[in-house]
Amino acid sequence: MATQVDAIVMGLGTCGEELGPRLSRSGLNTVGIEPNLIGGECAFWACIPSKMMVRASNLLAEARRVEGVAGTVEVTPDWSVVANRIRMEATGGWDDSYGVQRFEAAGGRHIRGYAEITGPGSVIVNGEEITAKHGLVIATGSHPVTPPIPGLDTVDHWTTHDAIQVEQLPASLLVLGGGAVGCELGQVFARFGVDVTIIEGADRILAGEDPVASEVIESVFASEGITVHKGSHVTRVESRAGQTVAILDDGAELTGDKLLVATGRAVSLEGLGLETLGVDPSARFLDVDDHLRVADRTFAIGDLTGKGMLTNVAVYQAGLVVDQLLGKTPPPADYSTHPRITFTDPEVGSVGLSEAAAREAGLDIDVVTKSVAGTFRGLLHGSAGQGVIKLVVNRADGLLIGATSVGPSGGEVLGMLATAIHGKVPVQTLAYMIYGFPAFYGGVGEAIGAYARGVGPVFDPNHNPLFKD
Ligand SMILES: Cc1cc2nc3c(=O)[nH]c(=O)nc-3n(C[C@H](O)[C@H](O)[C@H](O)COP(=O)(O)OP(=O)(O)OC[C@H]3O[C@@H](n4cnc5c(N)ncnc54)[C@H](O)[C@@H]3O)c2cc1C
Repeated sequence: MATQVDAIVMGLGTCGEELGPRLSRSGLNTVGIEPNLIGGECAFWACIPSKMMVRASNLLAEARRVEGVAGTVEVTPDWSVVANRIRMEATGGWDDSYGVQRFEAAGGRHIRGYAEITGPGSVIVNGEEITAKHGLVIATGSHPVTPPIPGLDTVDHWTTHDAIQVEQLPASLLVLGGGAVGCELGQVFARFGVDVTIIEGADRILAGEDPVASEVIESVFASEGITVHKGSHVTRVESRAGQTVAILDDGAELTGDKLLVATGRAVSLEGLGLETLGVDPSARFLDVDDHLRVADRTFAIGDLTGKGMLTNVAVYQAGLVVDQLLGKTPPPADYSTHPRITFTDPEVGSVGLSEAAAREAGLDIDVVTKSVAGTFRGLLHGSAGQGVIKLVVNRADGLLIGATSVGPSGGEVLGMLATAIHGKVPVQTLAYMIYGFPAFYGGVGEAIGAYARGVGPVFDPNHNPLFKD
């Protein structure tokens, strides 16, 4: 006979861990099933430890910027401090006792094991059948993609898990993939003295972002000694004399002590028992409706839904499902103002439609571009003040519909832009707002002010704010 509960959370990773304790604390009899560490990717191998690495490498970069601005500093990077902090402060030595305790203290029952769906609202785990009265939530995440490059399986290469857990840095590193993860980790290691080469198949790094973002980051990487091979495909990988050699399609050979594969993540629906819900397990992602439903009493959230594959989406979706399981009626899921931030230095943030996407959609738009170095704060900041604020305005209704914010604190500046887009605040209203001065987000006010006053739909990116129009 099946165990009856109120809710089942299948996968206590990033979003499952958010969901489980909240449901239990709200009085639902909840079972959470997880074969690995409660907390999943974000806590143990992704967002949290990687941003701890970013914080350390940014400190080094700031210290190196002292000269010419504030005196002199001698900088001696020491990776063991970072590795220790990740072990001790971020992941507790990759131990999830705290997560288990938190869930159980909230009243949840934790089962260590792989669950398989047996029908709407039901699973089997470790031989026990469990049925949920209110709902089963599938949150089984994604896994790193290893491209089918001949020889890759024969060389000792890093996944992002290995990169996060590294105790001793190699002298040189090849990074396969110039997306957000490859760029963040590549810059971190380079700032700790590793000779980094990024290999990207597209014609620019951060290819999912506006080209202005790629331009800024490529120029920063060049100034920091990071080599970027764009439009390059690796045709074969070999191990020679203890090193890894990547052979490119133009015949060039790149050599590194280590190879980091950062070519993205994929979802595998096989083996979850989705056939019992009438779902094709060979699909790329698990299709959900606007309320994250897959079938009767069955929801799915997180990476496996393919909606952005970031923690902020996973946590947002978890909130919508909690509401529904508690009998509330939240609005349908809306990803149109989903902010994305790449934590390179400078940071790259984007939200809404890019210029290209807006034009493709046939919208009549104005594009406002402002160099961060051309804002008051950027000018004060000095050499590390590179960046661009790019705004996409829909002429039909005067609403901001997209923004890219590259710069120091670019992700924070994105906050006000995301709020304006989400809240449908007219650009004219933003033009008559008082901005902090001289704040980085004040650059948005400088750009919008000029646009709304008709100084020009495209602001001179090299404009120096100390010289008035
Ligand atoms: C290096 C890196 C850095 C990142 N940085 C950021 C960032 O800064 N900001 C951001 O927003 N996002 C970031 N991300 C993305 C983010 O980590 C993911 O989007 C997020 O962790 C996905 O959460 P999830 O709950 O869907 O999956 P996961 O956290 O992977 O959880 C899924 C869980 O399901 C379990 N599971 C699998 N099969 C079963 C089964 N049959 N039964 C029960 N349990 C099962 C797994 O063991 C796993 O613990 C980063 C990713 C990487 C790789």
